[in-house]
Amino acid sequence: MILADNTIITEIKSSGRLPSPTGVALSILELTRDPNTSTEDMAMVLVGDPSLTGQILKYANAATGGARGEVTNINDALVRLGMSMVRQLCLGFSVLSNTRGGPCSEFDYGQYWTKSLATAVSCHALCSRIKSVSPDEGFTCGLLGRIGHLALASVYPKRYSGILSQWADGTTLELTQLEHQELSINHNQVSAALFEDWGLPESYQLAVELQENTEWDDLPTGRSMADRGKQLGRILNIANLVSDICMEAGPHRHPMTIEFMKVGKTLGQSDEQWVGLFDEILNEWDRLGKLLNILTSPVPDMENLVRRAREFKGTLPDKKRKNAEPSDVPNPAEAPDTEISEMETTKGGLEILVVSDSPVDTRILQKKLPAPAFHVTIAEDGQEALEVALKTSPQVILTDWIMPKLDGLELTRSLRLSTQTAGTYIIMMTAQEGSDQLIEAFDAGIDDYLAKPLNYKILQARLKAATRVINLQEEATRNQDEIQRTISEMGILNRQLQTMALEDQLTGLPNRRCGLDHFDKEWSRSSRNDEPILCMILDIDHFKNVNDTYGHDAGDIVLHKTAAVMHHCMRDSDVVCRFGGEEFLVICPGADVEVAKILGDRLRKAVETNIIDAPEFKGNITISIGVSVRSEWHTSPADMIKNADEALYAAKNAGRNLVCIAGPG
Ligand code: GH3
Ligand code: MG
Ligand code: MG
Repeated sequence: MILADNTIITEIKSSGRLPSPTGVALSILELTRDPNTSTEDMAMVLVGDPSLTGQILKYANAATGGARGEVTNINDALVRLGMSMVRQLCLGFSVLSNTRGGPCSEFDYGQYWTKSLATAVSCHALCSRIKSVSPDEGFTCGLLGRIGHLALASVYPKRYSGILSQWADGTTLELTQLEHQELSINHNQVSAALFEDWGLPESYQLAVELQENTEWDDLPTGRSMADRGKQLGRILNIANLVSDICMEAGPHRHPMTIEFMKVGKTLGQSDEQWVGLFDEILNEWDRLGKLLNILTSPVPDMENLVRRAREFKGTLPDKKRKNAEPSDVPNPAEAPDTEISEMETTKGGLEILVVSDSPVDTRILQKKLPAPAFHVTIAEDGQEALEVALKTSPQVILTDWIMPKLDGLELTRSLRLSTQTAGTYIIMMTAQEGSDQLIEAFDAGIDDYLAKPLNYKILQARLKAATRVINLQEEATRNQDEIQRTISEMGILNRQLQTMALEDQLTGLPNRRCGLDHFDKEWSRSSRNDEPILCMILDIDHFKNVNDTYGHDAGDIVLHKTAAVMHHCMRDSDVVCRFGGEEFLVICPGADVEVAKILGDRLRKAVETNIIDAPEFKGNITISIGVSVRSEWHTSPADMIKNADEALYAAKNAGRNLVCIAGPG
């Protein structure tokens, strides 16, 4: 990764298609930035969105398992969960309801949320068990921890489809590499950047960045931001393993199951406790899935999974045996998606959602609005209408005013708060034709009204007008999409140019310009903090011979492999860049003369012992190193580089494959 600053979010934000909270959830996020906000203020804003409120109440009840009495109103939920947790849940649920579908053809939106919910529930359960991070915090991190995938699918739908169809081995490492090649960015960077943008704690950002690491030490127990981030990152990593087991149907589960049982041991959990935890997670996943309307699938209990995995020795069966064990259950991704099939049948006619509690009225309307010109769906009250509308985004909603549960006015207000339905054409059917009432209805957000009893000719005429508006709106959306596509393409180009300007194409290391800029910054920092710093110039010995004997292509491979070795054996805080030709510059902040020799020798030995085994070149090479440790007579980085160069010259003269440290003066 090159040393570029984080402009990711500004760039992809300008595409306008990032998954984001809207309406009431957005107001809640704003409100909680003000430290004087009270729970009453929050409750007042939240009730403006009945669907969000409903989801928070469901979560509050599910999370406590009803142990402390049922939570029936938002004030109780705020007290039970705390303001910061409610804020995070608003964020999660709002993003969820705005992104149940989208334009990226290869991205399975349903499966994305199915897995995210399994991760969220697992994180909650793991945090309750391990007791180092709050379970509710774990839940939001799990729910939103993979948001970078969704964001890339939303901002670059076509390119991301291409990436997903090339993704062959199913590992996150391969996906990250493909994303980087195609978009100059990867999903973890985007997740962390979005978390930062939403004002989530820094420890969460670190956790999402770390969650796909493959090697883990013991869980840190400290309370510092970094320790909390690492704890949460490890928990997210285990939660992802659990959700992978939930999503995978068949023999691919075996190695994951064995891995899961191993992890339990490293955390000091007995097999029994660990198996119990998994089964608890399955129950919760199923329960919350039903409440939040997210598809889940039946998964065998852990005892069964472990038995099967052991039968197969935790490996994938070979080709012959592969057929011997069929999938345990249908994969949620393969289960029929009723939402999609419903939506597909609506194609071709004007999609109208009729909302009325009078079966007689709805029957007549269905007759008067026949297929194929119209496709009518019915909801019997405002609450049902809201749920259907958020799921299916009809083109027109024809609603009664007076209805049980949620009346026409409240329904209209709620619909206007959600991105999917903010632009839906709403016609209110009303017998209340007083001008004050009509003004109130227009203020709530209706587009038109029809007097009751309905005149069906007028209804047809009004629907014609609605169709004209809808067509114009759809055209405007298409144009806007086109502009946004261009902006996002420019974003990619920008990042590619930025990378090219700072990266050496042959070795992938920062180039000379980038290295010198970095040296300037580190020089200033070490001056401010009165800390040591050193630089080294490394030069490959007799490199001309490699080119002359094996050809220029072999020389290129040697450069590439040597750069990789050097990069790997440096500390995280050090930077190696390609300085030119077969020369490299290394900058080591915080290192003094004591460590100069150790670092130099480590590099020299690493290169010497690295056997290159490419068709074009087999064998090893050596390097000579000149080191300069900062002293008071150095007035600039250039002074230090000059000194290091002189030391390098001395190393070459003394026989090569040596480290020379520049003396004083
Ligand atoms: P010494 O031990 O004194 O450093 O000897 P040397 O042969 O390494 O040094 P010299 O400066 O004589 O040769 C460096 C060679 O590196 C010459 C140049 O063609 C080659 N070189 C520079 N950049 C590249 C590159 O990108 N690819 C390849 N294949 N060769 C390169
Ligand atoms: Mg040279
Ligand atoms: Mg050389």
